[in-house]
Amino acid sequence: MTAWDALAAQRDGVPVLQCGHVWLAGAGPGNPGLLTLDALAGLTQADVIVFDALVDRRVLALAGPRARLVFAGKRGGKPSTSQGDITRHLIDLARADERVLRLKGGDPFVFGRGGEEATALAAAGVPYRIIPGVTAGLAALAAAAIPATLRGINRALILAVGHDSEDAFDWAPLIRTGQPIVLYMGMRNLEHITGTMLRSGLSQQTPAAVIASATTSAQRVLISTVDRVAFEARDKGFEPPAIVVIGEIVAARDQLLGVSAPPSGRAL
Ligand code: SAH
Repeated sequence: MTAWDALAAQRDGVPVLQCGHVWLAGAGPGNPGLLTLDALAGLTQADVIVFDALVDRRVLALAGPRARLVFAGKRGGKPSTSQGDITRHLIDLARADERVLRLKGGDPFVFGRGGEEATALAAAGVPYRIIPGVTAGLAALAAAAIPATLRGINRALILAVGHDSEDAFDWAPLIRTGQPIVLYMGMRNLEHITGTMLRSGLSQQTPAAVIASATTSAQRVLISTVDRVAFEARDKGFEPPAIVVIGEIVAARDQLLGVSAPPSGRAL
């Protein structure tokens, strides 16, 4: 019995990846335990899996035995495959009647290129399906025992990207909400971003955390304050991919860890 047969036998209404179709699926932050069952269904049925650099090899290990694995993404921050080339490749594969899984780190629609790829597939008349994954921001908080919301502390969570140091993004309105900010792609500009936040009125002592390679065996957690977090992250050699979270929810970690605390930084 193949993995696909086993899944189909146990689950009602499991979606079928048809020839000539593309699924855009989120692979979660790394740990294969955070894949959705639909993403797993895609992995087991696909003829071709087009994946990016954030897709963990333990996730790819769940691919069907005959699946071809095609890397399309960035490595070491250097663009290797252009977005246009990726979408053209997806369209060509579908037109060649392949069953195509486009596997993206995290969630394909949260700070990814999922929207661009879906638009291109729709324009080309290629049937596709979107399978949302677990986004790194929420998975990293959970892995670090930081609650996304906690009664009495916050009632909203701001998901933001920090990859562009040149733009004059105005953090002040976000700071004024008093709600925590979860920053994706913020490591390279962290000093600039936190400096701007402080100048926009954020208190220096606001708790801040960096969660690098969340849910993988390389997971590291740094707990700090917003005035020091950029320096400490650099000093301690924290590398992307990482989520930075700024706000009082970080201080709730101690309560959550309690007596059943895993050692700090342990992966899921
Ligand atoms: N669409 C994806 C994010 C892609 S953008 C999602 O929803 O998760 C890439 C950014 O995601 C990285 O710069 C980093 O901020 C974050 N990221 C992805 N995987 C991560 C991981 N395992 N640990 C920490 N951050 C991660």
